[in-house]
Amino acid sequence: MFRSVLVANRGEIAVRVFRTARAMGLRCIAVHSEADAGAMHVAMADEAIAIGPAPASESYLRVERIIEAAKRTGAEAIHPGYGFLSENPLFAEACAAAGIAFVGPSASAMRAMGGKAAAKALMAAAGVPLVPGYHGEDQEPSLLAEEAARIGYPVLIKASAGGGGRGMRVVEREGGFAEALWSAQREAEAAFGDHRVLVEKYLARPRHIEVQVLADSHGATLALSSRDCSIQRRHQKIVEEAPAPFLPDAMRAALGEAAVAAAKAVGYVNAGTVEFIAEGDRFFFMEMNTRLQVEHPVTEAITGLDLVAWQLRIASGEKLPFGAEPSLSGHAIEVRLCAEEPRAGWRPAVGRLSRFVMPEGEGIRVDTGVREGDAVTPFYDSMVAKIIAHGATRDDAIARLRSALDATEVDGVATNLDALRAILAVPAFAAAAPATTFLAEHEAQVLAPPRPAPKRALLAAVAAVIDAERRQPAASAADPASPWEMREGWRLFGAARRVLRLHADGREIEVPLAYRSAGVMARLEGEEHALSWRRDGRDGAFRIRIDDTEAAATVLRSPGAVTVTLPGQGRWRIGIVDALEPARGDVAGDDRVASPIPGRVASVQCAVGDVVARGQVLVVVEAMKTELRIAAPVDGTVARVDVAAGDQVEEGMELVLLEPATASAQE
Ligand code: ADP
Ligand code: ADP
Ligand code: MG
Repeated sequence: MFRSVLVANRGEIAVRVFRTARAMGLRCIAVHSEADAGAMHVAMADEAIAIGPAPASESYLRVERIIEAAKRTGAEAIHPGYGFLSENPLFAEACAAAGIAFVGPSASAMRAMGGKAAAKALMAAAGVPLVPGYHGEDQEPSLLAEEAARIGYPVLIKASAGGGGRGMRVVEREGGFAEALWSAQREAEAAFGDHRVLVEKYLARPRHIEVQVLADSHGATLALSSRDCSIQRRHQKIVEEAPAPFLPDAMRAALGEAAVAAAKAVGYVNAGTVEFIAEGDRFFFMEMNTRLQVEHPVTEAITGLDLVAWQLRIASGEKLPFGAEPSLSGHAIEVRLCAEEPRAGWRPAVGRLSRFVMPEGEGIRVDTGVREGDAVTPFYDSMVAKIIAHGATRDDAIARLRSALDATEVDGVATNLDALRAILAVPAFAAAAPATTFLAEHEAQVLAPPRPAPKRALLAAVAAVIDAERRQPAASAADPASPWEMREGWRLFGAARRVLRLHADGREIEVPLAYRSAGVMARLEGEEHALSWRRDGRDGAFRIRIDDTEAAATVLRSPGAVTVTLPGQGRWRIGIVDALEPARGDVAGDDRVASPIPGRVASVQCAVGDVVARGQVLVVVEAMKTELRIAAPVDGTVARVDVAAGDQVEEGMELVLLEPATASAQE
């Protein structure tokens, strides 16, 4: 076995490889871009080498810099992770030339599977079933159009060099072919430097089923169960499970045999995945990913194998000790938590993770490469974590994953968390095998705007705010006039009364309160309610009593807002607009209007002297292809504007100085 490994990657996969490598006693070497100097994978490594600026093309994709880093640190092996150079045969060759073991297949196996078109020709020869299509060399548009007509519409145009769903176009009828071809070729050229495409029959409602293979250099090739990754947005997976559910045994066995035949046809060694598309009891080869895949943890869960450990052992020449598929246990489901805006076409989002709480518990695994406070930049993949649940049955796994997602908290960056929760709650998900059309079929439910906050959620927010005020240490005596001193309401005005103002569902809600010895009387929507509460152990857990009904609620505080979760009912973010709610000081950087990312100022939407409301957009920063709207963190007055349209800004740079509104709301 090697004594050291360099991971030519970042984020959760780098962290995940290090975890195994460390357990195996290997020295862990990280490489990183300038943007990642403070990243988790760097902090975790024994040694870390900076390899260039933030854009991947200047860092994680620079073969010579990575090889140089490996030589300098004496790394004996390089693990490529996924994405970046993981499927690049030139990288595998460069490792070999430098005398460093590449943890993956041979360059020739990568080349054979690298082009979808050539791989399909090879698979046809090996007797692996293919979707009817054209995968020839001749790329003459008129010929491709003829082939499309022969195959029969609808057809799918795919970039031969494709990956990650890019360069793919569905064409419904002949009239749309020429334009779709042109745009697919253009996207393929831009993304992969190769405009070649293939054309195949577009299946209307297929499943994506794939098989993990593991092959050693002594001739053993194993299929490890199956995975279903049918739930996709923009042809990219977001929910994956193992084994593929609702699959007849005969079909599962046939898929495994086809996967092994595919791997053997190219002399495959190490871990790889053969992807199929299936309709009814028929299945067709789609492509082979010659690397570890994002969704490998679900296979690890049901097989009990550490696939990264086996990748390292295989690369060091070890033999697989098992002749057949190991016995399987239970069912596992993974979701990809991504920084994106599902309701805006799943567009990637960036920002700083002001809150990042991952679930824990029996059968729950989280793979992530970020921590609270880290920035999500536009430079790399939008995935911030994978949450995996393992249970005895599929229903158990679903139940575990649902409660894990209920315990997950992310703030500061938009994510698909609510969409993931909604997917798992769609009755059809539990009832039947999902197809790749799942999101389109259940869009209304998955992208449903949040329900208006019920009374119980609003009152739970009130309870948590007052509870926090009561628990705050006394303010400094040096500032007796500080409004923070008045923790029990405005006694100055006689009775202990006040009005707490909340922001929810796009409106402001006033809640007049009268303090009682236990709790408060709160008036909401014209009705008086006796509200009392007690903390329930865990951070943010409360028992909330409203009149004569008590129930659990979780209330988590972030700057200027709370997030209320009512078990089984949902979660709501409720803004707190109140003099007593500390609007600054409890989280660093509260009222700073700073750019969370490096970029260019697209527009400035405020001027000195403007009175602005929390949430109002002040500046728009553009980075790569993303526009980030930077909003006022609190109500206030613009005291200074430090940037103008067109300016370059650094991460963390202050853009606008805001004078927060003072505690003048004494009704
Ligand atoms: P990539 O390299 O981008 O992963 P794939 O060939 O693996 O490309 O296809 C990605 C996804 O596109 C599949 O998981 C499936 O949802 C969809 N897809 C691919 N081929 C077809 C097809 N012939 N008919 C319908 N959907 C398809
Ligand atoms: P597929 O290519 O069939 O979608 P996966 O689902 O395993 O296969 O996804 C791999 C892709 O996911 C990579 O090609 C890459 O674009 C993206 N990706 C996800 N996470 C990362 C990461 N941490 N680093 C690099 N790429 C990543
Ligand atoms: Mg694929």
